[in-house]
Amino acid sequence: MRRVSAKTILVTGGAGFLGSHLCERLLEQGHEVICLDNCFTGNKKNIYHLMDNPKFEFMRHDVTFPLYVEVDEIYNLACPASPIHYQLDPVQTTKTSVHGAINMLGLAKRVKAKIFQASTSEVYGDPTIHPQPEGYWGNVNPIGLRSCYDEGKRCAETLFYDYSRQHGLQIKVARIFNTYGPRMHPFDGRVISNFIIQALRGEPITVYGDGSQSRSFCYVDDLIEVMIRIMESGDEFTGPVNIGNPGEYTILEIAEKVVQLTKSSSPIQFRDLPQDDPKQRCPDINLAREQFQWEPQVDLHKGLSSTISYFEKLLSEEKI
Ligand code: NAD
Ligand code: UDP
Ligand code: UDP
Repeated sequence: MRRVSAKTILVTGGAGFLGSHLCERLLEQGHEVICLDNCFTGNKKNIYHLMDNPKFEFMRHDVTFPLYVEVDEIYNLACPASPIHYQLDPVQTTKTSVHGAINMLGLAKRVKAKIFQASTSEVYGDPTIHPQPEGYWGNVNPIGLRSCYDEGKRCAETLFYDYSRQHGLQIKVARIFNTYGPRMHPFDGRVISNFIIQALRGEPITVYGDGSQSRSFCYVDDLIEVMIRIMESGDEFTGPVNIGNPGEYTILEIAEKVVQLTKSSSPIQFRDLPQDDPKQRCPDINLAREQFQWEPQVDLHKGLSSTISYFEKLLSEEKI
């Protein structure tokens, strides 16, 4: 464990998949952590094991409303992240990204806190450049089913840079590419969780389209490590910086890998491709490599194996 001077750190979306791992790591480093969440897609079960820690505090709150706390740093992760969840109430999704960013930036301004934004590879939309470097401005449909998320996150980035220029805020913007691991929501419809649960239950593996679309998958531990390094970087570095694992796979390859690792007899079933589904996605992580001497350590085989163990336990304990 690294020794660092203890700070009070707010993690919005802290009861979610990434947020709960981040809270855990920050507590391990000796910080006080305020975990804020409205429990829309997150779950208190993700943070039960932290509740007894005197340095940990859970707040049920919606970031679209103002918040008055005294903190040194803010990680802004609050936002539903999977297509089925962010499309359930798309207006609320945009409000969460935009009003949430305004409130957290207003808070950061008042208390002079450093603030990190969990942005996304979705700001690149259905990219025409491959792999995607940070300088690429993207190819985003402003009025489609994914727009509430994509445009909300793009606007949040705009707000971060305008607060930085206008009010001198210390900002860090990271564009997160597909990440997976234990504590993913079992029914958020994301490809890794869907395929693993289908395989474990012996149900058909639902591949959308012909499965030739690609994604690059980063294991959660690698992502949390670089998120913290980004926050700890000097004031001159603001990003935006891509973070993810550049190992690229087609969705059909992922289906086959999951079937193989779970020793499942599930057949592969092809379904319609959702609207605006990006055809390919792969991060150019040269900036993160140079700035943070960071390289993802966990390969797909190892990461999938530990995620499968998590879901096996969840299925047996909770009978879901
Ligand atoms: P998640 O759904 O598990 O976590 C998001 C958390 O935010 C949940 O706990 C949810 O309850 C909370 N939340 C949603 N709306 C809120 C609101 N209005 N007020 C307070 N809390 C609210 O998803 P995740 O994968 O952990 O994603 C965390 C962040 O990282 C999100 O901002 C997401 O856009 C970003 N991100 C994730 C990925 C990924 O692959 N996991 C990729 C790109 C970006
Ligand atoms: N805000 C907040 N907590 C704070 C300070 C501000 O939630 O500690 C919110 C506040 O409600 C405001 C938003 O952040 O709507 C933006 O604040 P800012 O100071 O930038 O703007 P203003 O208050 O001038 O609109
Ligand atoms: N996908 C799939 N079957 C599923 C869930 C997703 O084929 O059961 C596909 C989806 O169409 C997309 C890719 O897997 O091409 C990644 O989907 P996910 O929702 O995990 O992430 P995103 O599209 O936001 O990158």
